[in-house]
Amino acid sequence: MIRFWGTRGSIPTPGVYYLKYGGNTPCVEMRCGESILIFDAGSGLRELGASLIHEFGGSPRDYHILISHTHWDHIQGFPFFHMAYLPGNRVRFYGGNSVSTLEKLIFGQMDREYFPVTVDELASDVTFHTLSESPFNIGDVTIHFTHLIHPALSLGFRVEYRGKTVVYATDSEISDDPEIERINERNVGALIRGADVLIADCQYTEEEYRHKVGWGHSSINKVIEIASRYGVKNVFAFHHDPLCTDEQLDLMLDRVRPLVKAPMRLHGAREKTTVYL
Ligand SMILES: [Zn+2]
Ligand SMILES: [Zn+2]
Repeated sequence: MIRFWGTRGSIPTPGVYYLKYGGNTPCVEMRCGESILIFDAGSGLRELGASLIHEFGGSPRDYHILISHTHWDHIQGFPFFHMAYLPGNRVRFYGGNSVSTLEKLIFGQMDREYFPVTVDELASDVTFHTLSESPFNIGDVTIHFTHLIHPALSLGFRVEYRGKTVVYATDSEISDDPEIERINERNVGALIRGADVLIADCQYTEEEYRHKVGWGHSSINKVIEIASRYGVKNVFAFHHDPLCTDEQLDLMLDRVRPLVKAPMRLHGAREKTTVYL
């Protein structure tokens, strides 16, 4: 089961023009049996925490948070994650180290200058796991990861569980630049091959992308192209541009639909919706 809690890129985008696809920044919950995996800790994590409190109350559990990278839109929900404040809970972060450690980057935003609650007040057991070897396991879930093209270290994850494969690959630039193409064919190609679900950075239309080359995001056209080539079954357009209203997003999806050839299907990732596999 996959549930979208935040699908917007860059900055939370509230308002009546964003009700359909949602305004929270990236956070995707994945349930694999008893294991609870969370992809990115954007502002959507706050409401996921509220839902988990409703479901589990104070009974201790493990929460595995996989961080694609530490750009603000992917970590800003953590200080509001209720489960991290409950004793007995274990919050396990997984990600890469870049110029600083993952721990420093996540906890840095809880410096008193930025946020009134400090890390000392987190009653749960929070630990950080630097990813070095792919694949790795969380319980009986196998996870592969690779580097994506972005102006910071950004990781894409391939989750394999009971014969199903889901890929989370956001903040990733796919382009015709020969060097980028070479890297993507190797890294992204291996990551997405035959996936049942691909949650992918589709921030721009083809026209918009021409003005945003090197920004580290992709056009939806390029994602469809590579997903078709590697036999992906379902593409969920994700990391929606904060300037893109529901109406514009619907239009963008409609315009590229003729490029999507069966059996592949294209969906717009919508906050608070669930996908069952
Ligand atoms: Zn982002
Ligand atoms: Zn980013």
